Amino acid sequence: MDFEKKMALANNSLLNCRKRQGKALRIGAVALFMAFSQASIAQNPCPTVAADALDKDSVVNVYSARKEALILPLLQNFQAAFSNHYDSEIQVNLITGKADGLLKRIELEGKATPADIFITVDAGRLHRAKSANVLRPVPKSIADKVPTHLRDHGVDGSAGYWIGLSQRARPIYYSRKRADQSAVTSYEKLAHPDNAGKLCVRSSGSIYNQSLVAAMIASMPDRLDQSDSFEWLKQETLEWARGQLDSQNEVTDPYAEAKVYVLAWAKQLVENFARPPTGGDTDQIRAVAAGQCDFSLANSYYFGRLVAKDAAMADDVGIIWPNQNDRGSHVNVSGAGITVHAKHPANAQCLLDYMLKPESQEWYAQVNYEYPVLPDIPWSDLLTEFGKFKADDLEMRKLGELNSEAVKIMDRAGWR
Ligand code: FE
Repeated sequence: MDFEKKMALANNSLLNCRKRQGKALRIGAVALFMAFSQASIAQNPCPTVAADALDKDSVVNVYSARKEALILPLLQNFQAAFSNHYDSEIQVNLITGKADGLLKRIELEGKATPADIFITVDAGRLHRAKSANVLRPVPKSIADKVPTHLRDHGVDGSAGYWIGLSQRARPIYYSRKRADQSAVTSYEKLAHPDNAGKLCVRSSGSIYNQSLVAAMIASMPDRLDQSDSFEWLKQETLEWARGQLDSQNEVTDPYAEAKVYVLAWAKQLVENFARPPTGGDTDQIRAVAAGQCDFSLANSYYFGRLVAKDAAMADDVGIIWPNQNDRGSHVNVSGAGITVHAKHPANAQCLLDYMLKPESQEWYAQVNYEYPVLPDIPWSDLLTEFGKFKADDLEMRKLGELNSEAVKIMDRAGWR
C-alpha cells in the first residue's frame, strides 16, 4: 500500500474510533503532521525490537501522569509510523491522571492491569513505582540509549526499571527590579542570613523540593571540604542540627555528616522564607514578579510557559543558574517504565524506542519547555534564550533512594 493511501485510511478509521471512555482516550490520527516529517513516519519506529516479537494489529496501553496535550501528538505519530512500517495497526490507548493515583491504580489492578507503560514526572516518583514493584527491568537495548545518570540502573550500570525521557532544571528566579543576582550563586546561598525574608518556595510536600533536598544530601559527602559551600551556616544552627541527627545517624551512613549540614541549611532556608509555603511552582515565579519576594525556586518549564504566554514576565523575573562553579544546577527527569504485568511488553518497548528517536526527543522536549535526555538534540529557541548552563550530573536514582531522608530533614527544619 502506498504511503498517502495508507495515511488516508488511518485517518478515516482512527477518526471514527476517536472517543473518550472515562478518562481513557483512543488515539486518533488528527494533526498527524503537526511536528514530524513524512520521512520520520516512514522509518522503522523501533529498531531495537525484533519484528516477530511485536503484537501487530494490537494495542499498547499507556498510563500517563503527563497531560494529554503534552504527549498526544507523539503517540499519534507513533501509530502512523508503526502502521506505515509494519503494514499493520497499533492502537495506543492513553489514560491520564495524577501520578500517585495512577500508581495506586496499577498496584490495585495487580496482574489484571491493562497498563503496559507508566509515564510520570520526577525521579522520586519513578523510584516509588520501582519500589512498589509495578515495573519490570527496561530492556538493555533501550536503556543503553539514555545516559546512565538519567536512568535507573544497577551498581554495575546494568539496565534498571525506568528511563528518563526528558529533563527539567530547577533554577533560582530573581527579581530584576529589586534583587542582586550575584547575591545568590548557589542553592546553599539561599540560606545566607543576608537573604532573610526574601525567598518564596512551595511546600515540602512537593516532590520537586524533596528531590532538590535529596540532591543536596547526595552531593554533599564530596563537598564538605569545600570551605565556601557553607561558611554562612551559623554555628548554633549546625550544633542544633547535629543534636537532632546524631542519635539517629548510623555510624556507617555515608551521608551522616552531609545530613547535618543539609538540615542546618534547610533550617536557615526556612528562616529566609518571605511567607509560609503556598501554591505551585508557577505561583512562586509570579510571587517574584508581584514583589512578594526577591528569589524563588521553580522548574524551568513553568517559567517557559509563563514567558511564552507573556514575554513581559522575562522583564521582571530572571533566571539564576546556581552552582555553576561546582556541581551544577539541579535537574530532574520525566520518564517511564514498562509494567511488570504488561500484556504487550514488546509493543511497550517499541513505543519507548520511538520516544527516544532524535525527532521525538526534540519535539517532546520543545512542546513541554523541557530539555532532551539525549545529547546533541537542539533546544527550543526559548530555552536557548534562558541560557546554557552546567547541569548537575548526579545519578537520578539517588533522588529516589534519598527521598525519605530528604522528607525527614525538611520536616525537622520546619519546612511546611
Ligand atoms: Fe510540574
